[in-house]
Amino acid sequence: MNPLTYFDYAATTPLYPQALEVMTQALAHFGNPSSRYAYGRQAAQAVKAHRETVARALGCTSGEVYFTSCGTEGNNWAIRKGVELGRRRGRHIITTAMEHAAVLETCRDLERQGYEVTYLTPDRAGRVSVDQLRRALRPDTALVSMMLVNNETGVVLPVADCVSAVKAFAPAILFHCDAVQGFLKLPDSPVSTGADLITVSGHKVGGPKGVGALYIKKGVRLAPLLTGGGQEEGLRSGTEATAQIAGFAAACAAMGSDTDRLVRTTAIKEYTLAQLKQAIPNLEVISPGDAPHICAVTLPGYPSEVVVRVLGDQGVCVSSGSACHRGKPSHVFAAMGLPKPWLSGALRLSFSPSSTREEAHRLVEALRQAIESVFPIMF
Ligand code: PLP
Repeated sequence: MNPLTYFDYAATTPLYPQALEVMTQALAHFGNPSSRYAYGRQAAQAVKAHRETVARALGCTSGEVYFTSCGTEGNNWAIRKGVELGRRRGRHIITTAMEHAAVLETCRDLERQGYEVTYLTPDRAGRVSVDQLRRALRPDTALVSMMLVNNETGVVLPVADCVSAVKAFAPAILFHCDAVQGFLKLPDSPVSTGADLITVSGHKVGGPKGVGALYIKKGVRLAPLLTGGGQEEGLRSGTEATAQIAGFAAACAAMGSDTDRLVRTTAIKEYTLAQLKQAIPNLEVISPGDAPHICAVTLPGYPSEVVVRVLGDQGVCVSSGSACHRGKPSHVFAAMGLPKPWLSGALRLSFSPSSTREEAHRLVEALRQAIESVFPIMF
């Protein structure tokens, strides 16, 4: 068995050892935070402390952090209940054509319920502009949802400027930001954008799967998506996933304390891209990525599904776009208007601060060998 050479950190990340340790302890302490006796109260105390840790990482108060089961839940909650809050303004939503499926499919569902959605189209570099958003704003716009970092290109969207533009147009329009790929991956916290609602997810920051959080800015009266026992101040019912929450908080603390992680991640990404360009002349860069951890390249005409499989057989893990869209060409690259051969050959590479040059060399060599064994498609 080859050692695993992992360049798919945007799909998911390994658990920090610190997270695993506190999760094991939290699993052993099985008390329900809602129980009134001491064993339950201890669990509630632990959740309170973990909420404070996540709030510190976000740069907000703990009263603005609501634990969820994942980023997908956070996006559904923010958008579905956000539009209800804005119903008096109207039924118009603005988002971008390159959002994650958790946003796009939610918007499509709302369209079936009578909402109207404007999808801002990215340019060839994967960017949308503040002016594009300004032009789309209408008197009946209720909600804007815009991601912070695109999960396939690594492009950072101008969320802070867009929030300012939206609030200048009408302060009542809610602004939601899917910051799943931006949380702890950029110099500034997503909270500094000024967005009203912000989604983050545990398994993208060295925490476990099955936990995330929605930041709800103080004063925003979002209704719950899940109703029931009234946990999370009545806003997100369901017995708290104490172990996942513990692991998520430990991961936030561990990642946050690694102060030169962004510099190291950028350096290894740039090194890998340079090595790839040198070794494989027909490789093209779709996006070098503004965020340190993601970039997108293409081998025009070489079917990326096959290339990913051949690499995988050698223990080299990359993605042919979002891991959530297996088998279909990426809607992000399609929205950018890339030519067909570029679309079919697109690969996403994503990095961690601990990615090494040796791993980069293994990737380059495996990719060089792969394209010798894979036949390009003729267009
Ligand atoms: N939003 C973005 C930008 C993502 O990249 C992902 C996961 O890939 C999600 C949302 C969904 O997060 P989760 O897997 O926690 O549901």
